[in-house]
Amino acid sequence: MRAEYTPPGYKEEGFHCPHCGVYAHQDWYEVSLERDDENGESAEGLSLCYCERCNNYSVWVDEKMVYPEYTTAPLPLADMPEEVMLDFMEARDVVSHSPRSASALLRKALHRLVNILGEDAENISEAIENLNKKGLDVKIQKALDSVRVTGEEAVAPSVIDPRDDEKTAIVLFNLLNLIVDVLISQPRMVDNLLDKLPDSKKRDRDFLFRARIG
Ligand SMILES: [Zn+2]
Repeated sequence: MRAEYTPPGYKEEGFHCPHCGVYAHQDWYEVSLERDDENGESAEGLSLCYCERCNNYSVWVDEKMVYPEYTTAPLPLADMPEEVMLDFMEARDVVSHSPRSASALLRKALHRLVNILGEDAENISEAIENLNKKGLDVKIQKALDSVRVTGEEAVAPSVIDPRDDEKTAIVLFNLLNLIVDVLISQPRMVDNLLDKLPDSKKRDRDFLFRARIG
């Protein structure tokens, strides 16, 4: 299983499927046209790509995927809490048509995530400052300011802001993943590592945690 996202690419043997979202082997087919009794003739520039995992096709014209709709939005990390992921996936579905709707959904998802991480999202700027103390990089806070999640121009979750464009939405997608990575995935990985240590070393565990949060 690949952790990083491999976007669909023309004639590539494997990528993250635009239907099922999983990295899977892809089979490519050229399309030929038949009319009445005439022999098949290749439909130039038209290809079909078959996902071996979910049995769905993507349609490609002149080396570009035209179906399903392509988005440059990343997929959610596996550790993303489910209720956050639902908004994330809905935002992915709409971002190319309505980046403003996607951004509103993503700000809502960020507020949910902050609540799940034990902070009060009602006061989002203060909540993020508290998360900085738990290991969130201050640069992430600056990025959250720039896309108006926090700071003086903060937009309330679910509010449609006419300034939001696709770029803003893509930054929001990535920030959600980053926060999940730093505050959920990485601590879990450290836990897993420490669990493998012999008992005599486990005494150091609390010390390691203090140092990390420090
Ligand atoms: Zn698939």
